[in-house]
Amino acid sequence: MSKHERRRLEREEERATQLDEATPLPTCWLCGRQFGEKVDQYHPVPKSKGGRATVAVHPVCRRTIETVFTNAELARSGGERDKLIDHPEIVRFLGWVAEKAPDFDAPTAPRRKR
Ligand SMILES: [Zn+2]
Repeated sequence: MSKHERRRLEREEERATQLDEATPLPTCWLCGRQFGEKVDQYHPVPKSKGGRATVAVHPVCRRTIETVFTNAELARSGGERDKLIDHPEIVRFLGWVAEKAPDFDAPTAPRRKR
């Protein structure tokens, strides 16, 4: 493949990526999977702590966040996903839920330990 040709392909790839970004399929803020029928609007910073922004999450993801973190911890995270997904419980959850169907819902999320 010539240098020129490779450059052209790279540009095409770049354009495809940009197109994807322009029309994103809605995915979950926490786990990044696509949605089934149910989508929850979730305040990553609790309303009671002054949070206003909402993100779209699976019901099971929302329940997991609420189980693992206290409102005070969520407020401290500032609504930053990166700070939540470092938590070992969330790491485990993400690995576990990754293969589940979009509509998968767990009736009993892991219990809060305190
Ligand atoms: Zn999710």
